[in-house]
Amino acid sequence: MGEHLKIACGVFGAINLKKQSVFPYIYWGLRAQNHRGHQSHGFLTFLNGEFYIHRSLDLVPKIRASAIHEWFGRLPGHVGIGNVRYTTSGKTDEKSLIEGTQPVTASKSGLKLAISFNGNVVNTVQLKKEISEDFPGFSYGSDADLICHKLLINLTKGKNLEEAVKTCMEEIEGAFSVTGITKDGRFFAFKDPYGIRPLCAGHSADKDIYAFSSETVGLDINGFYRDFEVEPGEFVTVSENGFSRVKLAKDRKAFCAFEFAYFARPDSFFDDKHVYEIREEFGRNLVRENPEVVKDADMVISMPETGDDAAFGVHEESGLRWERATRRHRYVTERAFILLERERYATIDKKINILASKVKGKKVIVVDDSIVRGDTTRVTIEKLRRMGAKKVYMFVTFPRIIGPCFYGIDMATYGQLIGAKHAPDEIAKIIGADAVCYQSIDGLVRATGFRKDELCLGCITGEYPTPLAQRIADEMRKRFLEGYEETGRLYEISEIFDKC
Ligand code: SF4
Repeated sequence: MGEHLKIACGVFGAINLKKQSVFPYIYWGLRAQNHRGHQSHGFLTFLNGEFYIHRSLDLVPKIRASAIHEWFGRLPGHVGIGNVRYTTSGKTDEKSLIEGTQPVTASKSGLKLAISFNGNVVNTVQLKKEISEDFPGFSYGSDADLICHKLLINLTKGKNLEEAVKTCMEEIEGAFSVTGITKDGRFFAFKDPYGIRPLCAGHSADKDIYAFSSETVGLDINGFYRDFEVEPGEFVTVSENGFSRVKLAKDRKAFCAFEFAYFARPDSFFDDKHVYEIREEFGRNLVRENPEVVKDADMVISMPETGDDAAFGVHEESGLRWERATRRHRYVTERAFILLERERYATIDKKINILASKVKGKKVIVVDDSIVRGDTTRVTIEKLRRMGAKKVYMFVTFPRIIGPCFYGIDMATYGQLIGAKHAPDEIAKIIGADAVCYQSIDGLVRATGFRKDELCLGCITGEYPTPLAQRIADEMRKRFLEGYEETGRLYEISEIFDKC
């Protein structure tokens, strides 16, 4: 996929009950999940009442081996948390990016706390005001600061950790999958009442190490077994006896459907179903729903790598040859500093190379995971035409995106979404395709194995699981249709927030 869409974060945390160093597990857990956040990474460990922290910009694999060895000494302790991040909130200059790096800490009245979080807060305006009353001069670096400070404020009011988390679940609207450490080394995790972002729990074979990870690949790389997906509204702690789970809030589950199509690694699994199997089924379903297009096509190709498994499904169901005609420029990575808005378009063309000999004179089905702005797809189609493709049909595994995301994906406005303004045949004309065939919403739901009411489908249906997000989406849509110029996350503007 080439739309450069980003998710907020990936988290990993672990405790070694044998009291040995936990840092190597966090390093590998984050390295396996770097796809969830390219801009920055951070590690935090705990020993004898102290937090030890290292936060930096850039990718985890870029850390030099000598630095990793040095950090063994600088990041001591048997319990720790880590984070990879791409900012979907706050400022994007270098200083702000470093300030927004996780894990974050907060301290007050002899109490302190550290957390690593994945997701996005919707009621930021309200929370910033509330926190400033307890923390005059509160400095907002990211939504993680809001959660960490809210949790700490609840602890300073005499609540125990479980009660403090429960109150946070009531006070904060949005997606939040959190792992954290208290000042006495208590290791915990929790999820928002809708369970919008993933977070799973697992252990080592000898049951010495227990861990939380955004995706199962963070456990796999460490050789850990996966125990369970943290449930919506669930609070989990770890003791000598292993995991202890308690449900603190009850609401409908609303797991992000876009995780299946794009964000998660294909070898991760949610609720016992591998993502690659679901993507294959997306491809099979597109064939069943578009028989005329399939009949006319000569071959199928995919946009690597998120389109690959679905293209295999198209090949299996249709019998069309799957040609590996698109190849990634291996060392063209998505670096934060070249993904600022003004440079976005210039980088689109640099990631994928197309094998002209494969597509010349052919009617081609191109499988991609989504169309957001449409600019990437348009560039790809232009390239295919230049290479001599006779017809280009787009098979898109995620349904038409018609609204923004409030829960941690950088689709903040209606204006940036080609699907918010145009029907599929209009989109085909704009991007130069012979047809654009989207996955149906029912087909998507069926392939995931989840029930429809267990998924968040907000950006494709306009129906958001949380109430404030729904009111803001409705207000934003009204203004968008009236020609209002959106300038970013509108719910961070007090005037709009107050109206909703
Ligand atoms: S709005 Fe879309 S991208 Fe955002 S959480 Fe819901 S399904 Fe995922």
